[in-house]
Amino acid sequence: MSKRIGPACKQCRREGDKLFLKGERCLSNKCAFDRRGFAPGQHGKEAQFKRQRLSDYARQLREKQKARRVYGVLEAQFRRYYAEALKKRGMTGLNLLQLLESRLDNMVYRMGFAESRAKARSLVTHGHFNVNGRRTDVPSYVLRPGDKIEVRAVSRTRTYFKGLAESAESRAVPTWINRDLGSLSGGMAKLPERHELSDIRLNEQLIVEFYSR
Ligand code: SF4
Repeated sequence: MSKRIGPACKQCRREGDKLFLKGERCLSNKCAFDRRGFAPGQHGKEAQFKRQRLSDYARQLREKQKARRVYGVLEAQFRRYYAEALKKRGMTGLNLLQLLESRLDNMVYRMGFAESRAKARSLVTHGHFNVNGRRTDVPSYVLRPGDKIEVRAVSRTRTYFKGLAESAESRAVPTWINRDLGSLSGGMAKLPERHELSDIRLNEQLIVEFYSR
């Protein structure tokens, strides 16, 4: 099972980019990256300068780490996703992104039912969702187009889910996802194309190069 890898804001500062790991806070003036956009630690500013002169290998490694941090996936599991993406037809980089996007925790986040992937993962782990009518508490569960996710009846009485329709309304839903706020349900209409993942600021080709060495 995946888990958070260290304090969220330090991960953004380490990667030199906003990874949007904390929901609303990332868009506010409290964002640590906007205030201190250099790497954490005593030699952070120095590291920032070195980042501009990275080798090809280092750039590939950093891109892979960035992807892992965005989706909250551990190394071994990320490698398995890559192996699976490699076996599929089409472009490996896009296959990899599609696999990551198909995870249950990501889908809950994309549907606007959580403000961040970390929060979505926690909701899933606590068993608040059914997938195709069955309670599913595995964040890495991979959905296919047509699968239905819904908040469980027993969870709807909880304060968080009572106010969810209202809070989720302001969160935009990508074109490849269905959402019905009335029934707190939804699912994947189709696999996303690369242009439909414009918020994912990753160069997946560098990740493919990293694993192809
Ligand atoms: Fe990253 Fe969000 Fe923290 Fe800003 S607030 S540093 S975008 S996790």
